Amino acid sequence: MNTIRNIAVFYTGGTIGMKPTAEGLAPATDLHDLAAPLFQEFSHQLHCDWFVSTPLIDSSSVTLENWQHWLNWLDQQQNHYDGFLILHGTDTLAYSANIIALARPDFAKPIILTGALWPFSQPDSDAPLNLRTALAAFALSFDQTAIAFNGKLWRAVGSTKISTQCADGFQTPHFAPLAHWSAKKGWYNQQLPAQIKPEQPSCQACNLHPEVKIHCFTLTPGANIDMITASLNQHTPDGVVLQTYGNGNAPDNAALLQALKQLNKQNIPVLNISQVLQGQVSDTYAQGQALQSSGVINAGQCNLETAQALLTLAASNHWPRQKIIQCLQQHQLI
Ligand code: ASP
Repeated sequence: MNTIRNIAVFYTGGTIGMKPTAEGLAPATDLHDLAAPLFQEFSHQLHCDWFVSTPLIDSSSVTLENWQHWLNWLDQQQNHYDGFLILHGTDTLAYSANIIALARPDFAKPIILTGALWPFSQPDSDAPLNLRTALAAFALSFDQTAIAFNGKLWRAVGSTKISTQCADGFQTPHFAPLAHWSAKKGWYNQQLPAQIKPEQPSCQACNLHPEVKIHCFTLTPGANIDMITASLNQHTPDGVVLQTYGNGNAPDNAALLQALKQLNKQNIPVLNISQVLQGQVSDTYAQGQALQSSGVINAGQCNLETAQALLTLAASNHWPRQKIIQCLQQHQLI
């Protein structure tokens, strides 16, 4: 017998529901009506209740307060629904997917995020396929956080936006898609993860502090190192992401290393991640050793979105260095 699953749809904004205005595309409230026939296609499997964020936002303006508000909403609704669909702008969708997955690791209900690169109302929009992929995901035996986009399901941790121009807008550069979907074949090539065991150390739910300041820096040749050093010395952050070269290398700059050692003394975590899409920070090169000896954590395959989310939670909850490393290990990033 087919049981109908109850799904909460949380519409936060984004291009998926935008309309043209004199200033350019802006969020609009009528997505529910526009998409009603598409949702109807799934009505034999899903009953969907809509929740619309006020105000709807372009996701480039998402804040840590938004994230905490959304986590609170998920907590309030957790027992009332079998799954959650978050409609989100694509600009920061991967940041939000990472923070939700890391903050609610043991939520035990599917949380699927999707959006679109072109508005639903526009001919040839990617929105219908993305929505169908997302709605179809609630039929899988899967109860974690994921991104559904262009006929693929991606793990949230490690996800990144890779295109504003082609419909394959998201990826996890170090991990294969969890599954593929098409209207003809349904789900195929499934590689769904085993359920996370709640007793694992980084599995407790945690919240974030909206005032936490995580500073992210990308190394480039030239004066940028002086700028980073001055910033670290003058505006002490709560955590730092350094996007270094290749396997985690950086110039041997004494002032930068001194600033990093100072942060280490104050127990302020610094993650070394690669600026290469499929980069892996490791101890391959002597050049990278100086950073490690200054107390920087080698974050392996961790990407920017995951690093920012991880440090936001680590700083908000005063995680010791070991817990950050455990979390990286648990998500197969190191
Ligand atoms: N600026 C839009 C947003 O993130 C882009 C999109 O949704 O594709 O809200």
